[in-house]
Amino acid sequence: MSAVIYIDFETIHPVIGGEWHRTRLTGIPEPGQGITMLCGATASAAFLPSSQRRDHGTPTACPRCDAIYRREHGIPQQHTRQGHQ
Ligand SMILES: [Zn+2]
Repeated sequence: MSAVIYIDFETIHPVIGGEWHRTRLTGIPEPGQGITMLCGATASAAFLPSSQRRDHGTPTACPRCDAIYRREHGIPQQHTRQGHQ
């Protein structure tokens, strides 16, 4: 019997060098497996508890991934939104 840990792929935002990106995953990557972000950045997968996400400062959103994600989902681009932080 397995103890299954269900993961929501929509919430996976890999952090590379202090920037978080969006990616399209079809499964859980193996540690060390190369994954490609929407913006084209590539890096090998590593896993840590989310509680350690801000250990080296709060990651900022990758603007290229953000723009691609918004375009794909019909979300207005950031500069056209009012009062957005
Ligand atoms: Zn990116």
